[in-house]
Amino acid sequence: MALSVVDLYRDVLPKTNCGECGHPTCLAFAGQVVAAALPLSECPYLSTDTVERCTVELKEQYAKGKWVRRDMAEDALNWARQRAADMTTESFPPRLGGDLETEDGVPVFRLPYFNDTLRIKNLTITTHEGEPLTRWEQVFVLNHLAQGGSKNPTGRWKGFIELPNTTSKIKNMVDSVERPIAEAFADNILLLKERAQDLGATVEVEDAGSADIAFRFSPFPKVPVILLFWDADDAEGFEAKAKLMFDETVTDHLDIESIVFLGEEIASRLVKQKESH
Ligand code: SF4
Repeated sequence: MALSVVDLYRDVLPKTNCGECGHPTCLAFAGQVVAAALPLSECPYLSTDTVERCTVELKEQYAKGKWVRRDMAEDALNWARQRAADMTTESFPPRLGGDLETEDGVPVFRLPYFNDTLRIKNLTITTHEGEPLTRWEQVFVLNHLAQGGSKNPTGRWKGFIELPNTTSKIKNMVDSVERPIAEAFADNILLLKERAQDLGATVEVEDAGSADIAFRFSPFPKVPVILLFWDADDAEGFEAKAKLMFDETVTDHLDIESIVFLGEEIASRLVKQKESH
């Protein structure tokens, strides 16, 4: 029979809230045992028999995933790895750009990424200096590897709203990408320019439209992104505004979730750099 948090608290733990397990209450400890597989033996007041009996039941429910708190990043990473697993490393450069080299007989894909070059070996991804990426960033890169796209950019730009099936994500793009950039760099175009160039962006002239300034980022060789920026105009009562533009082929290379992630990555890299300036 499965053991819920309440079962464990009510029927097994001493309910003295002594805190010796490192948790303020027995109920909090029970929650960690059930949801995060914390060993029951960390409560020193349980008999060996009780720990062994309950652990058998707990292991069964962990195996079924019952009440276990999902590690979303790990799940996504496993899924992305499975998605990319059928593809050989040799197949990446012709589709995505980048180079192939061999290290101890094992192919290594070198993929330009913003102002860095990623090293991808057996689907393990590091920066060119060997630093690991965050798990969400790995998911993003693996999704790009697995997406299967091979189209070259056409130079025809679209706002996020113009891409197919983006309706449910438009608010994310505005709230977590375009607005933070606009607010961070209002009245500070020079700093935006400096930060963008640190990320490998170039000033875009041809496709700047009515923007006060525009930058072209190259997160991946075949995924260019333009950032349009209009500065605040106090006299006219206009607030600063930012907008990302994607090549029309972007959906060949990234799914919609990944395009939002890319936008968030650009925003967080720009704003984080500003904060650490
Ligand atoms: S050590 Fe045991 S009795 Fe003390 S708070 Fe933790 S679970 Fe409760």
